[in-house]
Amino acid sequence: MKTFLIPSIVMNAEKNCKEAIINFLIEHQCPQCGAPAVLEETDRLFACQFCRVNSYLMADDFFRYLLPHPPDENKNIVYFPYWRFKGMLFFCGPTSIHNRFVDVSHQAIEAPIFPISVGVRSQAMKLRFATADMKGRFLKPQQTFDKFLNTFQERFGKSLPKPILHQSNIGETLSLIYSPFYLTDRLHDAILDKPVSARLPEDFDIDEFSGDRPQWHIRFVSTLCPSCGWNLEGDRAALVLSCKNCNSTWYPVGKKLKQLKFAQFPGKVDNTIYLPFWRIKADISGINLDSYADLIAVANLPKVVQSGWNDIPFRFWIPAFKVRPKVFLHLATHTTLSQPRKKPITELPDARIYPTTLPIEEAVESLKLTLADFMKPRRTIMERLSDIQIDAKSFTLVFMPFKEGHHEFIQPDYQLTINRNVLVLSKNL
Ligand SMILES: [Zn+2]
Ligand SMILES: [Zn+2]
Repeated sequence: MKTFLIPSIVMNAEKNCKEAIINFLIEHQCPQCGAPAVLEETDRLFACQFCRVNSYLMADDFFRYLLPHPPDENKNIVYFPYWRFKGMLFFCGPTSIHNRFVDVSHQAIEAPIFPISVGVRSQAMKLRFATADMKGRFLKPQQTFDKFLNTFQERFGKSLPKPILHQSNIGETLSLIYSPFYLTDRLHDAILDKPVSARLPEDFDIDEFSGDRPQWHIRFVSTLCPSCGWNLEGDRAALVLSCKNCNSTWYPVGKKLKQLKFAQFPGKVDNTIYLPFWRIKADISGINLDSYADLIAVANLPKVVQSGWNDIPFRFWIPAFKVRPKVFLHLATHTTLSQPRKKPITELPDARIYPTTLPIEEAVESLKLTLADFMKPRRTIMERLSDIQIDAKSFTLVFMPFKEGHHEFIQPDYQLTINRNVLVLSKNL
């Protein structure tokens, strides 16, 4: 049987982070017709194969899952919470930027009696959404997610050259996984039906852990265009949906889909695929970076500033899709240095659109990192990075045409190439 591993942060996260990327499967039911469905963790647009109704998936704050166990009336099940983090970590050191993609879980309550992470599970095992109507006792997380992440960042940062001038985590999936246990004179894993602790101390009292029973909901939002009532379209993993009827794009904000500013660079040839980028306008203090001319100075580009370049406003260009950290940073830096200046039009492309899978909030997290990647000479980073503040002000989703080759997607105007395999492998990130 194939197994997957969610490494504990204590034991082996650093060694295993490359091999342990998981995309969970989640058992669910269509909210319209009740037909059973299996979702992938990255799914946002759910298309029911039976009633054909589409809906868009949203959680209250983050997704909460539980690991199902064989039913047994005689056991009092206790669900123990684990934080799960899946995403990119970047550490900017004095001479280079280090990155890691990690997929880790860790106790959300400090309790040595329970296993420290979700641990090894069968890949055949599907998760369920934890919702308010479920039986069992849910223990309340005591440790915040930020604390878990800080501990993990510290551990990883230990082995890196000092000082660490800036660090960020980007594109993360944050979720809570509840794993079932029951008690006799020992603690038992209810999935494996096996003890996982030694004999419990006399004074052990599970009731000392506080319970949690808030109103959790998974929202299935209608995918009819809020503006014209037409069907919104998108890939199953797409955060952004589009309406071809009224030429609009939609994006989750709070509990609703809201309209999103978008544009495309026309440039359709045969085999065009449009890749989405976040174009972000930001207030930058601590460094002079308002125009294209400023960028040439900050990045020390081998170009002579021409008249008018002082008037071209500087924008960040960040990939709006999840991809391996090294490729992500390379694309962000390269596209930002290119400052694409073709005139965009506000029309949806009539070719394939690669799904937007990286939220704007995550793209914003990468701005300082991108700047640190192109600032030259490197010693200025040591001297100035900590004084620099970047404040995102507005953004537009821009679809950029790429020509689909055998092995790569190529953007000829800005010399961008993305290996197709890299994108295929990024589906699970
Ligand atoms: Zn259905
Ligand atoms: Zn519409």
